[in-house]
Amino acid sequence: MASLVPSLGQLVSDATCLFKKLFNDEAPKIAACAPGRVNLIGDHTDYNQGYVLPMALSLVTVVVGSASSGQEAIIVTASELADEPKKVDLSLPNEGFPSFPGLPHWANYLRGIMHHYRALPLPGFRAVVVSSVPLGSGLSSSASLEVAFYTFLQQLRPAPVPAAAKHPHNMMLPPPRFTFDDGDKVAKAIACQQAEHTHAGVPCGIMDQLVSVLGMEGHALLIDCRSLESIPVPLSDPGLVFLITNSNVKHSLASSEYALRRGQCEKAASILGKPSLRDATVNDLEDSHSGHGPTMKISDPSMISKWEDFHYSRVSTYSYCSTLFVFPVPAWHCNKLTLYSLSPSQESRAQLDDVTYRRASHVIGEICRTLKAAESFKNGSFQEFGKIMVESHNSLRDLYEVSCKDLDDLVCAAMEVEGVFGSRMTGGGFGGCTITLLKADAIHRTIQNIQGVCILELFGPH
Ligand code: ADP
Ligand code: MG
Repeated sequence: MASLVPSLGQLVSDATCLFKKLFNDEAPKIAACAPGRVNLIGDHTDYNQGYVLPMALSLVTVVVGSASSGQEAIIVTASELADEPKKVDLSLPNEGFPSFPGLPHWANYLRGIMHHYRALPLPGFRAVVVSSVPLGSGLSSSASLEVAFYTFLQQLRPAPVPAAAKHPHNMMLPPPRFTFDDGDKVAKAIACQQAEHTHAGVPCGIMDQLVSVLGMEGHALLIDCRSLESIPVPLSDPGLVFLITNSNVKHSLASSEYALRRGQCEKAASILGKPSLRDATVNDLEDSHSGHGPTMKISDPSMISKWEDFHYSRVSTYSYCSTLFVFPVPAWHCNKLTLYSLSPSQESRAQLDDVTYRRASHVIGEICRTLKAAESFKNGSFQEFGKIMVESHNSLRDLYEVSCKDLDDLVCAAMEVEGVFGSRMTGGGFGGCTITLLKADAIHRTIQNIQGVCILELFGPH
């Protein structure tokens, strides 16, 4: 049975009760919230300046609190999964006294936000955080915490408009004493991303923060992570469902591997002589590959993996949890073992080692897939969208190597069911969630089939 997501009202009420209990029965004066997100396609493309297609979720983080006199900045999280202590008093950053990372780790996201907040100085405050976004599951609890807390600070001290800003052409006026927040949403997302970089130590791309700030109900957002422009993609067909399945595997490896992958992409771009992998093509990559060691030969993935092949190419039998079931294997997965000898001429042009080549080929392919997927969704071509989702999963598994057995099992279990269009891991990987697109009338048999594979958590609408 799917557990229900607590409503926003319920979360605010829980946070208010906790605040009153902790702070002399006073009611909080401010409430702010920001959503988590699921990425439909386009993983590990944002920090390569490519495209992503996330949607904001009704799983949200709520911050309630009030301004207080003095320099205290007391914040309490209700989240059991956050490291101890759950209550912190962070010193307010001021000119000459910036905020530094420290312990507990969860508070670093908040220290980072206070550091990068665009309207200093801040008054003292007390606040409580509650969230329905599962922590560390690839649904971006971190960005929802950052954006909710940033929004809380915006309400705590509404931006003063300095005299110089009112009269930008009057050079005789002294410069403003305050830095001020002009309400620019993209700048807010960038400040939240900076907080994660400098204080939480995660060199993330901009996707999570941008969709948490800009997400719209009933829409995904196609984001160009270079220009930071985004186009809403309507997701309003009542005959369709996106199912998020939590593997409950925590992505503990993720931060070190994430930084490693990011470094490999930068290396690939630099060897290819490009500012980023966004600027590289499949041909650039082919020309620079060493051909050492086993790999798949790269070509347009959509040419290799035919949807019909996925269904009919081969059927394997696997045993999990004492249940026997069959799952189809996509054609280009089978091809993996046969397509790796390259010609001597290619070897002489060798520059990219095999691992770097595979990382780059995922990113280049994924950027194309994301654009094609958004187009397919807009055109109502859900079979095509699903096919691209599966190609994306295979690429994350085989080329970028960020999937794990639990995620692969969940995808396979979903793909067995009639009425399922596509399924893939979502987020950074090494655990976390899968996302599946299916017909609404296939939801019960899909859940049933997945439950035959592993213990899972399902997020239902209110
Ligand atoms: P994800 O963003 O996919 O959930 P991350 O590893 O990027 O996973 O971020 C999870 C971390 O963010 C947590 O371990 C914790 O430090 C912090 N965090 C997120 N939400 C909260 C919260 N409500 N309370 C305290 N810390 C939180
Ligand atoms: Mg995160």
